[in-house]
Amino acid sequence: MLKNLPTKSFRFKDFTIEGYSRAAVQSYWRIPEFKIGFDLGAQPWSFMGTPTWLVSHTHLDHIAALPVYVARRRMMKMEPPKIYLPEHAVEPAQQVLRVFSQLDRGRLPCEIIGIVPGQEIELSRELVVTVKATKHTVPSLGFVIWERRRKLKPEYLGLSGEKIRDLRLAGTDITEEHRMARLAYLGDSSPEGLDWNPEMYEAEVLITELTFVAPSHRKEKIHKMGHIHLDDILARRAKFKNELIIATHFSTRYHATQVRNIVERALPDMLDRRLHLWL
Ligand SMILES: [Zn+2]
Ligand SMILES: [Zn+2]
Repeated sequence: MLKNLPTKSFRFKDFTIEGYSRAAVQSYWRIPEFKIGFDLGAQPWSFMGTPTWLVSHTHLDHIAALPVYVARRRMMKMEPPKIYLPEHAVEPAQQVLRVFSQLDRGRLPCEIIGIVPGQEIELSRELVVTVKATKHTVPSLGFVIWERRRKLKPEYLGLSGEKIRDLRLAGTDITEEHRMARLAYLGDSSPEGLDWNPEMYEAEVLITELTFVAPSHRKEKIHKMGHIHLDDILARRAKFKNELIIATHFSTRYHATQVRNIVERALPDMLDRRLHLWL
């Protein structure tokens, strides 16, 4: 497979997290097993098979590859993709595609869908995404992927298979939906994006931005820029129930070793070994 961009990969239970993110450079993530991606700051050649993308906000490091991605899928004769964007961005994104279509002299077929906090997106029978409000310097969204299963309602748990079959045949709804938050993606946000959405702390996997780590970068200033500082993570350590916390979107002001040293000094146990620095 052609390698045009850096990507990292991490296996968690039955799914894989792939991607890369540095502030002001580029962010792109995908979960191949869920057939879904987050942000289009750039587009690794290997990611084009993922047909559905959720864009957290329209800063260029999160959306610049939109025309490239759509064009590649068309060239490779893949179905037009579905791209979900914050509602205000739909019209400008369509304009951008029209202009690139003129420049490139090729159609850019895709479905652009506006979304707002509180909305649900059905990915499949088993998977649903909920759209969350976050806080950044432009309108921004976070996402939670839920796995849903139908389970027997508690009042029917003790019944025999035969009785259950009879109830089912009589048209009784004997099951109810159970949801499990598999993965939360914060996008770019100040800590409110976590605090407003308790699911972010409870999902099995959390991908959170951690743009600033150095003590000299004051967190008050960082919050105004719509980002998270290492101090914010420290202050919330008891809240994280996640099995895996991926910290990413580090500022380009830091080298990888610098980030590692500062975080390991502040959090020697790396949140009980659950914290993974995506470097
Ligand atoms: Zn960013
Ligand atoms: Zn941003």
